Amino acid sequence: PPVTRFAPSPTGALHIGGARTALFNWLYARGQGGTFLLRIEDTDTARSDPAHTQVILDGLRWLGLDWDGEPVHQGTRAARHADVAQQMLAAGTAFKCFSTPEEIEAFREKARAEKGSTLFRSPWRDVAPADHPDAPFAVRIKAPRDGSTTLHDEVQGDVTWSNDQLDDMVLLRSDGTPVYMLAVVVDDHDMGVTHVIRGDDHLSNAFRQNMIYDAMGWAKPVLAHIPLIFGPDGKKLSKRHGATAAAEYQALGYPAAGMRNYLTRLGWSHGDDEVFTDAQARDWFDLEGIGKSPARFDTKKLEHVSGQHIAMTDDAALLQELEAYLAATGAAALTPRQRDGMLRAMPHLKDRAKTFPEIIEKAHFVLIEGHVVPDEKSAAQLDAVAQRYFAELTPHLQNVTWDRTALEEAIATFATAHDTKLGKLAGPLRAALAGRSVSPSVFDMMLVLGRDETLSRLRAFA
Ligand code: GLU
Repeated sequence: PPVTRFAPSPTGALHIGGARTALFNWLYARGQGGTFLLRIEDTDTARSDPAHTQVILDGLRWLGLDWDGEPVHQGTRAARHADVAQQMLAAGTAFKCFSTPEEIEAFREKARAEKGSTLFRSPWRDVAPADHPDAPFAVRIKAPRDGSTTLHDEVQGDVTWSNDQLDDMVLLRSDGTPVYMLAVVVDDHDMGVTHVIRGDDHLSNAFRQNMIYDAMGWAKPVLAHIPLIFGPDGKKLSKRHGATAAAEYQALGYPAAGMRNYLTRLGWSHGDDEVFTDAQARDWFDLEGIGKSPARFDTKKLEHVSGQHIAMTDDAALLQELEAYLAATGAAALTPRQRDGMLRAMPHLKDRAKTFPEIIEKAHFVLIEGHVVPDEKSAAQLDAVAQRYFAELTPHLQNVTWDRTALEEAIATFATAHDTKLGKLAGPLRAALAGRSVSPSVFDMMLVLGRDETLSRLRAFA
């Protein structure tokens, strides 16, 4: 079974692109009974921040992307990374380079002028240890000098690089610290990673990393470099396009299942299927379905998928998610009465809703504690005419059977008797029952509220 990993650098928020990378790795592992690992690539101490790690873990948790075991912190493994460099040194696949930064810069200047290349070719590559000075050195890999390297990528196909584009890259700096490129390979190897699924901005790194696999004679993981996500205008997704962090979508009130579904479709397809369950995603997800061209982030599609998931979620589970959302926004917990009202109203609340805030807005009529305080628009509906209607209507409602058919009939009869239309009554009724213009239909509210509460709300404005 496959072992995949998500390897974020804790230098900022969990962006949509990173979330999608994590999701693909998670789906691939979970779909095949494999393992999904997490590695925090915190070797860039200047830019890494534990607070960012926390934000990234929170984002993964929100999206339901559970990882196996404890996260690996790359920074704690420096000794092991250095040890591998030493092994390469001993095996002759790496060498000590005593060139100073000034010498390297001078070499580059010259190479740029003569060949238009900036690749450094160390003069120390083939110098025998007996001729080494007692001076600080970096450990560099012996890159292949001629020929070319072809890597097979499950998304990009066969990709070939001329080896003269590979330099004798540094493995250990002169202060003994390992470089990132070495850390990634050693960690992937030690963690038993079989599939590397990541953004295609890492494709060129794959060629550098490949040299280390070759030098160590290690089994190479399957590669899948996924195209980056674009905005609707075809440019790389950025702040200009709106929300880019997973946490922003959480705050906007998209359900995690909808977000997962939408992100799964962002660069991967399974026929024409747009809306599917987690179980289907796990069953269907494969590397073949990943597209070669960048996917475009489309908020309208996200809303559609999100709405479908809200509709698919059963009422009690949806209420639980809503409560978690409310808690995250710092809102007060629902009272038992409010919970009960929400649950009874849920079939109407979730109808056509795309986000949690839409549900909450529509739920106002069951969230009201105490008297209905109409907003300005609703207050305007509750005029003298409405008062008269309510005064006459309430006795009828006192005796009618409290079901939809009977209620509809009673109010239709009342409208006819008063030479008015149901539409004319609906506005004031909605205003009295909800105090807002956004709510379920008048009959839905009456049924949810029950006879006593309905009558008491109407009498308050009669
Ligand atoms: N830490 C890298 C990033 O955040 C990922 C490296 C990898 O997946 O190999 O872009």
